[in-house]
Amino acid sequence: EAITVAELANRMAERTADLVKALFKMGTPVTSNQVIDQDTAELMVSEFGHNIRRVSDSDVDIQAETDVDDDENQQPRAPVVTIMGHVDHGKTSLLDALRGTDVASGEAGGITQHIGAYMVTQKDGSKITFLDTPGHEAFSDMRARGADVTDIVVLVVAGDDGLRPQTIESIAHIKAANKPMIVAINKMDKPGSNAQKIREALLQYDVQVEDMGGETQDVEVSATAKTGLDTLIEKIQLQAELLELTANPDRDAEGVVIEATLDKGRGPVATVLVRRGTLKTGDIFVVGAESGKVRALVDDKGKQVKSAGPSVPVEILGLSGVPLSADPLSVVENEARAREVAAYRASVIQQKRTTTAPASLESMFSALRDKQAQQFPLVVKADAQGSVEAIVGSLNKISTDLIQVRILNSGVGGITESDVSLASASKAPIIGFNVRANAKAREIATRDGVALKYYDVIYDLLDDIRAAMAGQLGPEY
Ligand code: GDP
Repeated sequence: EAITVAELANRMAERTADLVKALFKMGTPVTSNQVIDQDTAELMVSEFGHNIRRVSDSDVDIQAETDVDDDENQQPRAPVVTIMGHVDHGKTSLLDALRGTDVASGEAGGITQHIGAYMVTQKDGSKITFLDTPGHEAFSDMRARGADVTDIVVLVVAGDDGLRPQTIESIAHIKAANKPMIVAINKMDKPGSNAQKIREALLQYDVQVEDMGGETQDVEVSATAKTGLDTLIEKIQLQAELLELTANPDRDAEGVVIEATLDKGRGPVATVLVRRGTLKTGDIFVVGAESGKVRALVDDKGKQVKSAGPSVPVEILGLSGVPLSADPLSVVENEARAREVAAYRASVIQQKRTTTAPASLESMFSALRDKQAQQFPLVVKADAQGSVEAIVGSLNKISTDLIQVRILNSGVGGITESDVSLASASKAPIIGFNVRANAKAREIATRDGVALKYYDVIYDLLDDIRAAMAGQLGPEY
């Protein structure tokens, strides 16, 4: 029995746009009226955390169990924070210093495990989870693969240096992801540091901190002298409160793989960040194309724990194989179901590997068509600053009330891996004006299905984009 995307979304009480997006990420670009087969439908149902009731072999009745995520079941959860910034500005030092503010680590004898993420507990009992892989590459890679786990970004800028290329790239990635940011002006112990200069420089990139009349929080810190850390923690908590982050801890767990390896002694090990529900030992799960039964859970202090709730990172033992980072984990009812879903995912992945071609502008737009906010994201690279300005200026002018060009990043130079990961995370095409992509960027673009479009005449470029924008809106406009 087949079912349309819209009908399935309806039965699950999910938004059609979310379902289209999830299918797109799985490599099945469809529109809302298109029919999908039963296996795909079932997979989506479990992806969205609903139950399937099989009425007969050929028919599937989806029992929307929406109540599990109803408001009354929601409880506050810890924010998940990523640290970004230019190399040598102190990301790693700051992560270490923040880890040192954990009041719970004393019990573990100060031994910390690097499992890809850690959680710090403050004196008042509140908790914050930090992802241990700093930088915008990891952040955008995860997002491109559907694992948008970060709630808040801390942008580190060395007070004795200033905004540097990766600072500027980070700002573009943070804005493209619509994440709140807190600017940590680091190395304030150094005599040459000048925080005011940084605040002013940020204006040029549309980042206005509170002192400059804006809403972005900033804080002066020193990762090595350990000053300003309490204030930074407070600002993260304040931001988290504004976001009202919640999850239902009382349901089957869902999570995302942060890191996974094959450990000599322990076999396949994955660090999972739990997003909803509570993961327990003995739980049967599917993770990416692997499945398993939780044999043991180990926290970031190396301690065995029996369960892990929302926003908690834990290492899982008991996997059938090594999953990939960003793979989703879902607890399922039994082993047969786990194997079934894992096998299906493996076949989807296999299929994708053999058929992946760079998505055409058209297919990308049909997938985008169901998005509610009509935005047209683009990355623009050109050979000269004058061209960049002319192109961005003209693109902004072709925006209408119905659809708006959104420049995720623009700049002078060839198309790089960073451009591709940024574009990929927002499913945006990249425009090269008199410039091309380097080999590595082309390879990633092919893998991730990012469209690369080259032009040497602005008029042609605008014509194409205008047509594509009209295409995204659909024939009714
Ligand atoms: P990352 O590349 O952004 O992860 O930067 P690191 O954390 O590795 O720091 C780069 C260098 O800056 C190291 O030599 C650190 O010791 C130094 N550093 C980091 N934070 C501070 C700070 O607050 N004050 C001073 N004086 N040095 C710092």
